[in-house]
Amino acid sequence: MDSPTLGIIGGSGLYDLSFLSEVEEFELETPWGRPSSRIRTGTIGGTRVAFLSRHGPGHRLSPSEVPYAANVCALKMLGVQRLVSISAVGSLIQEAPPRSFVIPDQTLDRTVGRRRTFFDDGIVAHVGLAEPFCVDLCDAVATAAQAGGLPVRVGGAYVCIEGPQFSTRFESELYRSWGCSVIGMTALPEARLAREAQLCYACLAMVTDYDVWHTSDEHVSVDVVIANLLAMTAAVQNIVRALAEQPLPPCSRGCAEALANAVITSPERITPDVRERLAPILGRPAQGSA
Ligand SMILES: [Zn+2]
Repeated sequence: MDSPTLGIIGGSGLYDLSFLSEVEEFELETPWGRPSSRIRTGTIGGTRVAFLSRHGPGHRLSPSEVPYAANVCALKMLGVQRLVSISAVGSLIQEAPPRSFVIPDQTLDRTVGRRRTFFDDGIVAHVGLAEPFCVDLCDAVATAAQAGGLPVRVGGAYVCIEGPQFSTRFESELYRSWGCSVIGMTALPEARLAREAQLCYACLAMVTDYDVWHTSDEHVSVDVVIANLLAMTAAVQNIVRALAEQPLPPCSRGCAEALANAVITSPERITPDVRERLAPILGRPAQGSA
């Protein structure tokens, strides 16, 4: 059986992919613990896909509790080269209404206390994050999303807050004044860790509501979010299917070589234990079209 090359992390509202064939399940252990859920692999078209539910079975893990490092590591251990994150967000701009998609190209990190690197405790690396998402993978996601029938906005900054509470009105206005487009709780540190793992990473953000800056009567609440999520889940399934059915072009952005000049620790000072722990991350993903 071929390795899965396309990884999907499903967020709120997306807990499974309904159309996979030749399904297998993997329960993995990584040097950073167990991932959020078992990983289901299967085939769509000619592509092997690996699916992981970010919040775990029954949505038990808060955004602060998600084991982001274990999730990214486990998907890479299965052979994933390209990783698409499905993330529910609030909109900070009028032009991205509820029940539309945004494919962000930048991030602002307002999380606190989350593990944000694989490289610590005996090894240091500084990867580039100027473009936190793989532009080529974003293009492919955009093409698939535009065939899905709901509005799609390409580009914009995703501000990631710690949560689990939604933002205050002042915070919401502040993020707007900084030029952010959407607000969510999970794209970071996922994007950081995917870059360190040398994976292409893109985010398909599902707009479930206008954040609290908006003067509409329909303020953000879990009920509103869930109603809009359910309405968008079928579209997301179609987008993932469309993405997998097309051969993805090779990445031209160097994601698979992100660590080439990033490790600053003297090689002779890296202990065998550290090398063993980092082995799944330091390995380059197999190249080839997914
Ligand atoms: Zn890439």
